Amino acid sequence: MKSEYDVLIVGGGPGGALAAKAASENGLSVCIIEKRPAIGAPVRCAEGIGEDLISEFFDELDPKWISTKIEGAKLISPDNSCFYLSPEMAGNEVGYVLDRKFFDRDLIWQAVEAGAECYVKARAVDAIVENGAIKGAIVEYAGETREIRASITIAADGVESKFSRYCGIDTTVPLRELETCAQYLMTDIDIEEGITVFYVGREVAPEGYLWIFPKGKRTANVGIGISGTQSKNGHRAKDYLDKYIKEHFPEGKTIELIAGGVSACEPLECTVADGLIIVGDAARVSDPITGGGIYNAMYTGRLAGQIASKCIKSGDFSKDKLMEYDKTWRSSKMGKALERNYQIKEVFVKLNDKQLNSILNSVSNLVMKEFSTLTLIREIVKLNPKLLKELTSLK
Ligand code: FAD
Repeated sequence: MKSEYDVLIVGGGPGGALAAKAASENGLSVCIIEKRPAIGAPVRCAEGIGEDLISEFFDELDPKWISTKIEGAKLISPDNSCFYLSPEMAGNEVGYVLDRKFFDRDLIWQAVEAGAECYVKARAVDAIVENGAIKGAIVEYAGETREIRASITIAADGVESKFSRYCGIDTTVPLRELETCAQYLMTDIDIEEGITVFYVGREVAPEGYLWIFPKGKRTANVGIGISGTQSKNGHRAKDYLDKYIKEHFPEGKTIELIAGGVSACEPLECTVADGLIIVGDAARVSDPITGGGIYNAMYTGRLAGQIASKCIKSGDFSKDKLMEYDKTWRSSKMGKALERNYQIKEVFVKLNDKQLNSILNSVSNLVMKEFSTLTLIREIVKLNPKLLKELTSLK
């Protein structure tokens, strides 16, 4: 490990890996530090991603990254009626359940192949700040505390987002917008292999949802996210999940349990500072409705690596210069979807079970030629005009 690089990346998830690859491909010296002893483990994710999204990054997908191809989805309302998005309707909304243990590792390998250095069990414990500019990190590694200096530091440290806080940026997520999650990897359960299932409703998952994401034959990620304000003694995410599993998969075998948080808030007001770029979950760019953030982390990570390269070549790492990153992602398709989905989430989170039943029943027989989340929302609004008032500014 050297004491100085062009770019230092804090966090070896998808955001950090894509940033490292892009910066290395542009000839910069890059160091990734990851606090955990292994990249990609433990997996804190249900591992779902749309086919169109992942295809943006690769000409071909390595079969070992994919646990299952997903061709349809079921959305179950509180009264147990089902909106079925069949494979015929799903169209471009098909996707994959990944195996992130392999996927995340390969992303880092690709970055290392492009020239980046990567160190595990290397934790950033503070930022180096000089005259208001970020100049790298204080890092604990191999029993020592050392300084790693860099022209640009990329905070890719996930939902905890501590590094930005060390830099003086407030990354607090309001409790009501922090989904607390629990998930089992289960086997020996009756599932439909190519179909994801989502349950909504206050009894099942207050201000959140419960999911079944197939991972292969009779195996799935079965998880839940509920709003932080709904999490109470005896009513934690894991309690709701255990209740569901007792009722639906009493004979199922549990292979793994994970717990984690997902932000469902708006992105940070600004995702750059002098010498600093913030990407992925640390920037609060996971989707406020679904909690999905793999693509958004990869997209912002790659963009950060590209913009960092441009700025370093020009010798200017000021906030003003790095603002190109912030402006570009906000005006991108992803940025616009985040803005729109935040408004939708704010409306839907307030609905009670009766209202959810009525809305989902209204679309249960719907057949759409072309499906997208936005077209579904438009159909829901058409069939439930009262929602229109609250969703007026949807583009
Ligand atoms: P992460 O993948 O979290 O990577 C951050 C890395 O930084 C971690 O490896 C961490 O160890 C490291 N780090 C943290 N602090 C430090 C430090 N101080 N020093 C060094 N390293 C540090 N998204 C989807 O798209 N689809 C899903 O199905 C899905 N399901 C989810 C289910 C659950 C239960 C949860 C919790 C999340 C889910 N997500 C899902 C979200 C998805 O996992 C994240 O959006 C994605 O991993 C974000 O990538 P990232 O690179 O920003 O952060």
